[in-house]
Amino acid sequence: MSTVEAGKVVSFHYTLTNPNGDVLDTSDGDEPLVYLHGAKNIVVGLEAALDGKAVGDKVQTVVPPKEGYGEAEGPGPQGVPRSAFPEGVELSVGMNFEAEADDGSVMLLWIVAIGDDEVMVDGNHPLAGQTLHFDVEILEVRDATDEEKAHGHSHGPGGHDH
Ligand code: ZN
Repeated sequence: MSTVEAGKVVSFHYTLTNPNGDVLDTSDGDEPLVYLHGAKNIVVGLEAALDGKAVGDKVQTVVPPKEGYGEAEGPGPQGVPRSAFPEGVELSVGMNFEAEADDGSVMLLWIVAIGDDEVMVDGNHPLAGQTLHFDVEILEVRDATDEEKAHGHSHGPGGHDH
């Protein structure tokens, strides 16, 4: 009987709703999510809720922002010229990319709106500041391979492919 613990690769179906019950994201009708447990591949609040659970378990958990995508911080969306993005890259709202800050550090930015000349970006994850309600069903738990452990993520269907 295998239970969810560090070093296991877990696949699960999930539905994520906000406190109003609006569905923000779901794997319903799609492939399950697959991740390496204990490697911070998923938000910490959900990872903690799944710890020790087993195949077939249904888990409902409420994750506050600080255990989810963080509190919304910073100055809010900033405009970047469309020309700052590489030619031929199709931009879409919700896409994230790495940008270099003035001090040389790399930060992750999300696209929140796209205009003709300007793209609005924000350093906050789109779900920052939100309380997340997860409804999860665990489908499979297996041992991670040594390679997966070394990489810090799962491989194969639903996992990292490289
Ligand atoms: Zn890998």
